[in-house]
Amino acid sequence: MSDEQYDDEILDSSKISSTDRDGNPIPVTIPIALAPGVTVVYTTRLGGLSTGDFGNCNLGGKSGDDPAAVLSNRVALAEAAGARLSLVSQVHSGIAVDVDDAFEINTPFGFDVSGTRTPGDGDAPTVKEADGQVTSRSGIALGMFAADCLPVLLADPETGIIGACHCGRRGLENGVIGATVELMKLKGADPSRIVATLGPRICGDCYEVGDEIADKFEKRFPLTKTTTRFGGAGIDIAEAAMIDLAFAGVSKVVDSMPRVHAATQYLDHDPELAELCRTDGEGPASLDERIEGISRSMCTLENPLWYSHRRAALAGKTHEGRMLALIVRH
Ligand SMILES: [Zn+2]
Repeated sequence: MSDEQYDDEILDSSKISSTDRDGNPIPVTIPIALAPGVTVVYTTRLGGLSTGDFGNCNLGGKSGDDPAAVLSNRVALAEAAGARLSLVSQVHSGIAVDVDDAFEINTPFGFDVSGTRTPGDGDAPTVKEADGQVTSRSGIALGMFAADCLPVLLADPETGIIGACHCGRRGLENGVIGATVELMKLKGADPSRIVATLGPRICGDCYEVGDEIADKFEKRFPLTKTTTRFGGAGIDIAEAAMIDLAFAGVSKVVDSMPRVHAATQYLDHDPELAELCRTDGEGPASLDERIEGISRSMCTLENPLWYSHRRAALAGKTHEGRMLALIVRH
């Protein structure tokens, strides 16, 4: 109790601002140069207007966050990325969509309208349910929501065609990587030129699913069954993605880890991240302890930079925020 009072005294929350002077959020992101002119951006929990279980930079509209906060976070992210966001309604499918011609219909966020509009508000929006997106246009940031699932970002530097897909267990089983690469090929991309990178995701040590699911998954993706830190059967979704990328003819995979690792170290004294760790109940209250507990900086469950559905569930929560992994050609 006395510790808590002491913390409250020294941590004046009004001094830890994730907004600019006008109250607009400033999302803290990790950029990766994937290919000439093509940038991948991972958002973090830092630099947004969401509060409570969604703190602070939730970009997803489906889990019950305040729509005004989600909208502000998205607008600020688009501004920071210097691009318009193309989002889809993700359903763990194997469906990829070409957003080139259809993009203008649903401004400002493409085809995901969750959380940011009230029913009956203006023209009826077009919602696209998909888990992969492809474009040949510049200035459109394809975005994939995640909170443990794996985002995979792809670019053919020669044609400028980019793609993004959302690879959870079921999306992988449904072949979303193959579908996304196939659509890029239809538009003129050549898999031998495609450069890919794998975004933040829950790792094989942390993603426990039980024997039945792990055995079924391993039949589709050999050698991806794991034994987790919790002692049960798990799966490695990043390994599975590598298998399907290889099947699709994509062999150039850039590792996002060094940049993510550097960003994690850089943020190990960040007051906003310290405050989130102190208050989220999803692990030790000390940021130092959280950072020391990381064995894989790309793992969403281990790294407090990101939202993790599993980590939130283990903490007894019923909802959590979503990050976005973006890819854009400028
Ligand atoms: Zn992990």
